[in-house]
Amino acid sequence: MPAPVPRYLVPFHPKRMSHFFTDVLILGGGLAGLRAAMAVAPKLSVVVVTKRDVEESNSNHAQGGIAGVLDPGDRFEDHVADTIKAGGSLCDPVVVDHVVREAPLRIGELLKWGARFDHANDRLAMGREGGHGHDRIVHAMGDATGKEIMRAMIHRAREAGNVDIWEQTFTLDLLTLDGACRGALVWNSRHGKTMVWAKQTILATGGAGQLYRETTNPDVATGDGMALAHRAGAELRDMEFMQFHPTVLYIAGGSRSLISEAVRGEGAWLVDRHGHRFMTDHDPRGELAPRDVVSQAIVSQMEKTRHPNVYLDLNHLDPARVLARFPSIAAVCAEFDLDITHDRIPVRPGAHYMMGGVTVDLEGRTTVPRLWAAGEVIGSGLHGANRLASNSLLEALVYGAHAGEGASQAAAEIDDDFSASMIENPPTDTLTEPMNLADIRNSLQSLMWRNMGVRRDGDGMNEALESINQWCRYVLPRQFTDPTGWELQNMLCVGRLMIQAAFQREETRGAQFRVDFPQIDDDHWRRHITFRRDDDSCS
Ligand SMILES: Cc1cc2nc3c(=O)[nH]c(=O)nc-3n(C[C@H](O)[C@H](O)[C@H](O)COP(=O)(O)OP(=O)(O)OC[C@H]3O[C@@H](n4cnc5c(N)ncnc54)[C@H](O)[C@@H]3O)c2cc1C
Repeated sequence: MPAPVPRYLVPFHPKRMSHFFTDVLILGGGLAGLRAAMAVAPKLSVVVVTKRDVEESNSNHAQGGIAGVLDPGDRFEDHVADTIKAGGSLCDPVVVDHVVREAPLRIGELLKWGARFDHANDRLAMGREGGHGHDRIVHAMGDATGKEIMRAMIHRAREAGNVDIWEQTFTLDLLTLDGACRGALVWNSRHGKTMVWAKQTILATGGAGQLYRETTNPDVATGDGMALAHRAGAELRDMEFMQFHPTVLYIAGGSRSLISEAVRGEGAWLVDRHGHRFMTDHDPRGELAPRDVVSQAIVSQMEKTRHPNVYLDLNHLDPARVLARFPSIAAVCAEFDLDITHDRIPVRPGAHYMMGGVTVDLEGRTTVPRLWAAGEVIGSGLHGANRLASNSLLEALVYGAHAGEGASQAAAEIDDDFSASMIENPPTDTLTEPMNLADIRNSLQSLMWRNMGVRRDGDGMNEALESINQWCRYVLPRQFTDPTGWELQNMLCVGRLMIQAAFQREETRGAQFRVDFPQIDDDHWRRHITFRRDDDSCS
C-alpha cells in the first residue's frame, strides 16, 4: 500500500513560533525568482528565500545561452516551429508563441541590467544548438552564460531597496488557508522555523535532477517545490518528462559536468570507442539532432560497443577558437588531464532538465489561489515532451516577469493586516530507530537512473514503484529536524509521481522512451498526465 504523506512535513503551532509579514514571498533565487522580484512594484516588500547561497542554482550553471530571434534573417515563426518540433506534439502552441515573441524584450532587459553577452563584429554573437534551424543563442563569457546573467541579476536584486534575500533558508511547506496560499513555513539554522505570511507567493524552486545518480544539476535541485506544491493541493503535470542531456562528462571520480550542446554546434563529432562517427547512422541531422534522439543513439551505441561511454571529438576544429569559445569546459577537462583540442572527451547522458511541474496559466498562476510559479518548477506547456535547447532560461525570464507582475498587482490590492491565522500541524508519533538517510538517497538515485532513465519499460518501473512505496512507508511519516531528511521526503514524493506518470504513459514520446511501447500513440496519449493530492497515493 502506498504510504500517506502528511500535509505538512514538520509540526508547528502559530502561538509558539516567529512570524514575518511581506507583500510578496518568492521561494527560490535563481533566474526565475530574481526576475520575478524585479517585476514587483518598488513600494511593495519582497522576500526571496534560497536554500543555499543565492549563487547556487541551476541558473548559475547554465552554459550554452538563451534562445531568441534577434538576427534579421531569423523569424519568430521558425523559433516557434523548432520548439514544437522538438516537443513531441505536446507543446501548447499558444504558450510557445507567447514565450518566443517575448525573447527580444527579455534579453534586452538583461543587457540593460548589465549582463555582458559575447559580441562578434560589434553585434551580439549568436550560436546554434541541437534542434534550432538558425543561429539564435546568445551567450556570455563563452560557456558561462548562467554565471554572468546571475551576476547581473543578483547585483540588481541586492541594490533594490524593497527586496530582502534570505539565504541558507529552507522552505518546508506552503501555508494554506481555505484552499488559498498564505505564505510559507521556512527554516534556517539560526532562527529555526518561521511562518512567513505573504499577500502573494511565487514558487521558483527549480528542477529535480538530483533524483538521478547521473545528473548535471547542482545539489539544490531536489524537486522541493514540486513536492510542496503537491502537498498544498496544486496540480502538477508532465512529471514523466525528464530530459537527459546527451553529453555529460563521464570520468570516474569526477564531477558530472555538462559538456554543452554548443560544442556540437561548433562542429564537434560524437564517436564511439572505435572512433566511428555514429550519429548519422541514427538521424540525418547527425550531432545536431534533438536531445532525446542523441541520448537514445548514445545509449544504443554504448550497448553495441559494450563501453560505458562515447566520446566528443574536437580534433578537427581550430584549437584557438575551441579554447576561446569553451574556456570553462577546457578548464574542467584539464583537471582530469584532458586537453579538449587533442583528447577525446568521454561523455554519456545524464538527467538535466525537468519538463513537467506545477501547472500554470500564461501569467504564471497555479491552480491554488494566491500562488504563482515560474522557471523550471513549472509545467507550462512550452517544452512539451522535450525541451528545445536554451529555451529554459528564456522561460524563466518570461514567466518570472509575468508571475512577478501578476503577484505585484494582486498584492497591491490587499490591505495590510499583520495578523497570523490558525494553521497548525500537531506532532505525531515518530519512529525513533536511526535511519541512514544518505543510503536511502543513494538507493533512490540509483533506482531512478536504472529504471526511469533514458530507456524505460513497464517491468522496471513496476519494480521501481514497489521499492519507492516501501521507502515512502517508513520515511514519509517521520518528522526530521533538518534539510537532509526533508529533501529526501520531497525526492521520494516527486520520484513516485514521476514513475506513476511514466508507467501510465504507454508510448514513446519526446524524452520518454518505452522499450515495451516504442511507438508514439497520438490516439491515446497526445495529452497531459496530471496529478492532484486528492487523487493520487501521495495524499
Ligand atoms: C549544467 C546546466 C546547464 C544549463 N544550460 C542551459 C542553457 O545553456 N540554456 C538554458 O536555457 N538552460 C540551461 N539549463 C537549464 C536552466 O539553467 C534552468 O532551467 C533554469 O536556470 C532554471 O531556473 P530557475 O530559476 O527555475 O531555477 P534555479 O536556477 O535552479 O533556482 C532554484 C532556486 O530555488 C531555491 N530552492 C530550491 N528548493 C528550495 C527550498 N526547499 N527552499 C528554499 N529555496 C529553494 C534554490 O536555492 C535556488 O535559489 C542548464 C542547466 C544546467 C544544470
